[in-house]
Amino acid sequence: MTAEQDALLNQLRTICGPAAVLTATRDVEPYAVDWKRSFVGSPLCVVRPSNTGEVAAIVAACGMHGASIVPQGGNTGLAGGATPDTSSSQVLLSLNRLSRIRSLDPVGMTVEVEAGAILQSVKEEAAKRDRMLPVSLAAEGSATIGGIVSTNAGGVNVLRYGMTRALVLGLEVVLADGTIVDGLRHLRKDNAGYDWKQLFIGAEGTLGIVTAAVLRLVPTPRHSVTAVLSVAGVETAIALYAKAQSEIGDVLSAFELISGDAIALVEKHAGLKRPIAAGEWFLLIEAGSSLTGLEAAMEALLAAAFEEELALDGVVAASHQQAQSLWALREHVTEAEAREGRSLKHDISVPLTAVPSFLADARAAVANVSGAARLNVFGHLGDGNLHYNVLLGSEDDPAAVNRAVHDAVVRHRGSISAEHGLGQYRVGEWQRTKAAAEQALAHAIKQAIDPAGLFNPGKVLAAPTKGGTA
Ligand SMILES: Cc1cc2nc3c(=O)[nH]c(=O)nc-3n(C[C@H](O)[C@H](O)[C@H](O)COP(=O)(O)OP(=O)(O)OC[C@H]3O[C@@H](n4cnc5c(N)ncnc54)[C@H](O)[C@@H]3O)c2cc1C
Repeated sequence: MTAEQDALLNQLRTICGPAAVLTATRDVEPYAVDWKRSFVGSPLCVVRPSNTGEVAAIVAACGMHGASIVPQGGNTGLAGGATPDTSSSQVLLSLNRLSRIRSLDPVGMTVEVEAGAILQSVKEEAAKRDRMLPVSLAAEGSATIGGIVSTNAGGVNVLRYGMTRALVLGLEVVLADGTIVDGLRHLRKDNAGYDWKQLFIGAEGTLGIVTAAVLRLVPTPRHSVTAVLSVAGVETAIALYAKAQSEIGDVLSAFELISGDAIALVEKHAGLKRPIAAGEWFLLIEAGSSLTGLEAAMEALLAAAFEEELALDGVVAASHQQAQSLWALREHVTEAEAREGRSLKHDISVPLTAVPSFLADARAAVANVSGAARLNVFGHLGDGNLHYNVLLGSEDDPAAVNRAVHDAVVRHRGSISAEHGLGQYRVGEWQRTKAAAEQALAHAIKQAIDPAGLFNPGKVLAAPTKGGTA
């Protein structure tokens, strides 16, 4: 350890107290590896401030001593964004202790909450006041508000409520020089100048530290209905989606696509049984409303789908418990894939109407670089977002498969990261596939806000390039 690092550690202990600065290997370890265990880092220390003032002082101290900062919330990110490098020089800034819900206004329908608050606990608090924070993801028991803002998290309800960005009304952030910017306004309308908070949403901790947020709440739907259908092809699935939009679009909250192969894996590894006859694809549809009559509307949709030969088979859940068992089919896909063997995950989006041609193109492209690869495809069809996962054969080169899929995405003017972000996992592919002008713009923003590169270096942005094909 250098004298400069020693001085920094002492300063951090003075700012937050010695117990909030972790350096022992066993204490640091849980923070130094990502959820998928794909990235393992080695930070100088983990520092756990308890309020925004301490965060500001930590940032200023790190800036003064030239130590870069890796922010971390619940550490459930899927792109390695919250994992430090192996230089033993970075400060891992955990926001977990900033966990207060500062206020919840059920009439104005807003919640003001600190960055380290767990998503699920904020949702539970809102539910007590008959309000809902509509970000729903399997990691919500650990993911934090700062994390969902910084990754602009999606989930299963984006179709109706948008990504996290659509819910953020205000932010409090700490800038690279330690300035605290208080933009915690509870306003639905605010056109007084640049909407700077948008830059920090989805920035994956590369522009500043999010210390608190004001989020929009929605009324909790009193009734919901869930259905599962099987269809013969993805074109039919899209026709059914268009029909669902026409019939029940204003109450539609999820329209999930699961391949027949993925359901077969769930049956094999999770011991669950599909409740309907097989098709090439399955759809899981959910609608919610405060008004009654949802079940009849869903049943009418299914009846029309059978009459027009869009659906092969289908069932509407008769109880909350049955709805949960339909959702279990979707929720066990990732686990079943992990049990099947080595896989490569892609989180892509293409325009909805381009999904069929993307699927055909990507299948051919993957077959071209791998004879043994099998596909495990599922996702949020209504958002054009597919988890296009590839079960690899023992001889397969993951990088070649990765490039084949992303090149097909580029050919369809899609995104190589629909929800999960770039982190360190996709930064090379971002550099390879993003247009040079868009890369230059991203670097100009970084340069303007964090000129010394204090925040999360190596994440999101790679070194400027002249290349790019998108
Ligand atoms: C089982 C599972 C299911 C998931 N499902 C979904 C899904 O459906 N949709 C989806 O979008 N994501 C999903 N994710 C990914 C993950 O849950 C989200 O990205 C989540 O938003 C991360 O929150 P976190 O608090 O764990 O952030 P972390 O993992 O701690 O950090 C994520 C990124 O944000 C930065 N960051 C964290 N907090 C701050 C802060 N306060 N200020 C500045 N930067 C910060 C980190 O540096 C890092 O770059 C899933 C993950 C798992 C494990």
